[in-house]
Amino acid sequence: MNEIIAAEIGSLESLHGSELLARYNNSLLGVFGTPQQVLVRGSGCHVWDADGKEYLDLLSGIAVNALGHAHPLVNSVITSQLATLGHISNFFTSPTQIALAEKLLQISAAPSGSKVFFTNSGTEANEAAFKLARRNAGTEQIPRTKIVALEHGFHGRTMGALALTWKAAYREPFEPLPGGVQWVPAGDIEALRAAVDESTAAVFIEPIQGEAGVIEFAPGYLAAAREITAAAGSLLIFDEVQTGIGRTGSWFASEGVIPDAMTLAKGLGGGFPIGAMIVFGTENTSLLTPGQHGTTFGGNPVATAAALATLHVIETQNLLVQVNTVGDQVRAKLAALECVTQVRGRGLLIGMDLAAEVAPAVVKAALDAGFIINAPGPGTLRIAPPLIITIEQLDTFVAALPALYATAVESTKE
Ligand SMILES: *Cc1c(COP(=O)(O)O)cnc(C)c1O
Repeated sequence: MNEIIAAEIGSLESLHGSELLARYNNSLLGVFGTPQQVLVRGSGCHVWDADGKEYLDLLSGIAVNALGHAHPLVNSVITSQLATLGHISNFFTSPTQIALAEKLLQISAAPSGSKVFFTNSGTEANEAAFKLARRNAGTEQIPRTKIVALEHGFHGRTMGALALTWKAAYREPFEPLPGGVQWVPAGDIEALRAAVDESTAAVFIEPIQGEAGVIEFAPGYLAAAREITAAAGSLLIFDEVQTGIGRTGSWFASEGVIPDAMTLAKGLGGGFPIGAMIVFGTENTSLLTPGQHGTTFGGNPVATAAALATLHVIETQNLLVQVNTVGDQVRAKLAALECVTQVRGRGLLIGMDLAAEVAPAVVKAALDAGFIINAPGPGTLRIAPPLIITIEQLDTFVAALPALYATAVESTKE
């Protein structure tokens, strides 16, 4: 450890995890509850806690660490960029920012005239998209005051993104929120067709609903959404914050359908905070004019360099192919387990339903056994491991899951 950091951390370094968590609870706002563990180190698909225990990280900081922890190439790119030029504000630009924008336009098959806006997080990317949507204002006679989003959708925690998010428990304590949002049943083409009209500014869709438990739609849903929004003059906005950047085995889960805007974050920086909104086509890019939106940190040289390094590794190591192969294998193995009733998802974004609603207890048993996983619902588990994970590493979890499930069932009987 760097000696200045060691000095600043001081006596904390010698404390046990439980003592550190007590200090956490006395100094950090309680919105996350008490964290599961204090982590001190990571390498590849593994992390270590303050007591020296090792974990296989099957969640990647919620689909963020696309290349695992401490990836040497991402590391060296961040370090050398930071030593060259760290932050400049958007009064200036940098070669890394331009190169990343061009790269994102290339991998998203964006038509000419398409443009990128950088942020620091997923929710900020969706705030930008919300403002873009409001600028599709309609006419004085028929103003576009309505925004359509999907039931069970998640778009973030800031006021605009929150207004699009379906779960009432997240939204209601913070009302009034930006208005005009209407939710329709997810995956239902006719419900979408009925809701979208000339008063609709935009439709927000996660191509696979991650926080809802990795819910996929029938083939053709995204294409139907494209056709419906185009007919009404409404913007189609794909939230690929969780599904994008190779997570599902292609660069984007929506590949084949070009939206009006797409939001990205989580995996983009390989662990470094960065988000983006890609706006497709010349007409859409003129909706936001100079001065109408901005950010101090967004798209800074270090974050954009980290993203360039991440995309470079995904591309040069053929990780999209590997994600498909390994994902297919592990999903088949999970589906064959008796305690798993359904497996969903694509690539390495995987949700599974359990025979009993004991998912939080399975997460706890898994942590004790050295696996980091997550429960988006009472009977649903999610894994989103680093894209570099091997089937051998995943096999250790598949082999352990029946016993973890049995432990969870026992513990919830008490
Ligand atoms: C995580 C997530 C967000 C919010 O991203 P933050 O970086 O936490 O603000 C938005 N949309 C989707 C689909 C997400 O999974």
